[in-house]
Amino acid sequence: MKYISTRGKSPALDFNEILLAGLAPDGGLYVPEEIPKFSEAEIKDMSSLSYSELAFLLIKPFVGGVIDDSELRTMIFEAYSVYTHKDVAPLVQLSENHWVLELFHGPTLAFKDFALQLLGILVEHVLAKKGRRALVLGATSGDTGSAAISGCSRVSSVPIFILYPHERISEFQRRQMTTMRSENVHIGAVEGSFDDCQNLVKSCFRDQNFIRGQCNLVAVNSINWARIVAQIVYYFYAALKIGAPGKSIAFSVPTGNFGDIFAGYIASKMGLPMERLIIATNENDVLHRVMQSGEYKKTFLKKTHSPSMDISVSSNFERLLFDLYNRDGELIDGMMDRFDDQGINLSSSVMNHLRSLFSSQRVDEKETLEQISDSWRNNGYLLDPHSAVGVRAALKSNFSSNVPVISLATAHPAKFTEAIVAAGIDCEVHVPEHVSNIFELDEKYEILQNDLNEIQLQINQFFLNKDIV
Ligand SMILES: *Cc1c(COP(=O)(O)O)cnc(C)c1O
Repeated sequence: MKYISTRGKSPALDFNEILLAGLAPDGGLYVPEEIPKFSEAEIKDMSSLSYSELAFLLIKPFVGGVIDDSELRTMIFEAYSVYTHKDVAPLVQLSENHWVLELFHGPTLAFKDFALQLLGILVEHVLAKKGRRALVLGATSGDTGSAAISGCSRVSSVPIFILYPHERISEFQRRQMTTMRSENVHIGAVEGSFDDCQNLVKSCFRDQNFIRGQCNLVAVNSINWARIVAQIVYYFYAALKIGAPGKSIAFSVPTGNFGDIFAGYIASKMGLPMERLIIATNENDVLHRVMQSGEYKKTFLKKTHSPSMDISVSSNFERLLFDLYNRDGELIDGMMDRFDDQGINLSSSVMNHLRSLFSSQRVDEKETLEQISDSWRNNGYLLDPHSAVGVRAALKSNFSSNVPVISLATAHPAKFTEAIVAAGIDCEVHVPEHVSNIFELDEKYEILQNDLNEIQLQINQFFLNKDIV
């Protein structure tokens, strides 16, 4: 299995190479040259597998033999052994045909643990095999950072540098990162937005002269294909539990960078019957606007109750465009250039293709809080604000009563108590045991200017001039 760039000008690489990279040198994102397919009978046979067993089966073809099968299986089992629920990703029924898929039973209480608990272990393994060093570098709107830090702190040899927008993430999210006691972790609070953080990280990846060839820069954002691949698994797992492949399921996915929902798209291409993928956005609705008008264009960012979805550009959408435009890298290259300057218009045939699987709903701030309150009063179920956007989008989609719908619950409500309070709910939010002391621990982070030179200097000071084993 080889991986190629969406912009068509970079050499094809193996899985272990793209694992240790970020964007392709031409600025594109890596995608597999072909998608492995499973027949209906093969998918049916998967229904008795445990989560980790299923993960091994589905991830293996993407690794393409560059990691030994038995070692890969052990690493996958190790990654999910830290989950606190025996099903790893349990389904909770809200109404006759509507389920919530709880993706928050990992160490940092958001779905990003699914990929990042595995990523740290894989990176360490590949580095050891190749005798190379790496620095994990990422920008976070909250949940990626803590999940990546938690994943890397399990493997002491992988240092990590994380940037987040100062004062724009919840206190719980910040503390999950800043209270982590590990020598190998450095956290910078950037005076800017998440997009600023992401641009700084992208610039570091684009021109790596500042690290003077001392190590590999590894991306933890969902531009890293390993993130996507781990997230494919729970679409299969959940769908199998409620009747796939005999039934076709709709998924509602709270969407920011388009990584999670893109994994759903890949699951459908692998053979999982899928009725619909609902792009659920908050008021930062760049993707909803594309679905409505065919125009893909950035706008200003708003601060919402669901900060992990507050972005103006959805990086992974480029992967979908690459497919929709018949994998024409040259064309995507030109389009993304125009997108940066002025925005782009998608052709009507591409829009038809897009709308045959995807639909979208925009859920505003008022509806988000209303949904938290409604689900609590009607179902006794407490949603975090991101999951509430997904549930509300599913309800707004008005499916006929015979279509089973799964809404992805992407974070635990304890992470976002500010929104629970704003929704007027008066209840004690249960905080899982393993994170219950973070309000007492000391914090460690540094406030940084939104300035590339300063960031690069910090990286050099903290990691590269030190002896990284
Ligand atoms: C990251 C995140 C999202 C958005 O996921 P994308 O893959 O960026 O679309 C939604 N909800 C929560 C809680 C998140 O942490």
